[in-house]
Amino acid sequence: MQERWSSGRLIVLTGPSGVGKGTLLKALMKRHPELYLSISATTRAPRPGEVDGQHYFFLSRAEFQALIEQGELLEWAEFAGNCYGTPRRPVEAAVQEGKWVILEIELEGARQIRHTFPEALRIFVLPPSMHELEHRLRGRGQDSEEAIARRLERARAEINAADEFDVQVVNDDLSVALERIERILFPAADEPAETAIALNEIALNEKVKTP
Ligand code: ADP
Ligand code: 5GP
Repeated sequence: MQERWSSGRLIVLTGPSGVGKGTLLKALMKRHPELYLSISATTRAPRPGEVDGQHYFFLSRAEFQALIEQGELLEWAEFAGNCYGTPRRPVEAAVQEGKWVILEIELEGARQIRHTFPEALRIFVLPPSMHELEHRLRGRGQDSEEAIARRLERARAEINAADEFDVQVVNDDLSVALERIERILFPAADEPAETAIALNEIALNEKVKTP
């Protein structure tokens, strides 16, 4: 990344639907407005309160397919019946300006980024338990029963791949998880980045493994 795209940095945040990625990122962006959060394209319908161009670019299947064919997506994947992808140009422009760009994407997209940008820092967010994940998905109250079932099924596969990521963060207490992410991104001056990551790996012990 440094060599290819000047001093910017790419950060990938992945974790099962409902684990709290959006909540964590909202808090992180509030505390660090200098970070650049990539806005994805999706064929999913907007949820109540979601704004086109702010939460996602909401596209038809045909529009999404055209972006793929034009090579305009940095990565893309299907998730629970819809397509999601990262528009290439805004991310490239931000990194070229030296910004730290965050991609909040699912597992397949994160794997693509691992191949295309091995320098990217990849963080996986884990739930404290599957029970709590289901509770959060339902509590959000924005997905149908069918969508919840598909998301839980996908969650098991994603959680089992958590080891592929550079660091894992358990989102049990929100402020603790936020602090861990901050320490990974912004280690204290007297604390090497490796130490911050090692500290964070304590979370591995609490990791939720599914059969
Ligand atoms: P994601 O973006 O990963 O799909 P959300 O950020 O939408 O998940 O969070 C799903 C639900 O879980 C929301 O209702 C949110 O308020 C709640 N939530 C997020 N983090 C926590 C936490 N640490 N403890 C309890 N509830 C949480
Ligand atoms: P949701 O429908 O809950 O907003 O998102 C469903 C899943 O799609 C989440 O795991 C989210 O991280 C992922 N996602 C959002 N944008 C992208 C993207 O641009 N690319 C990929 N691969 N996944 C994405």
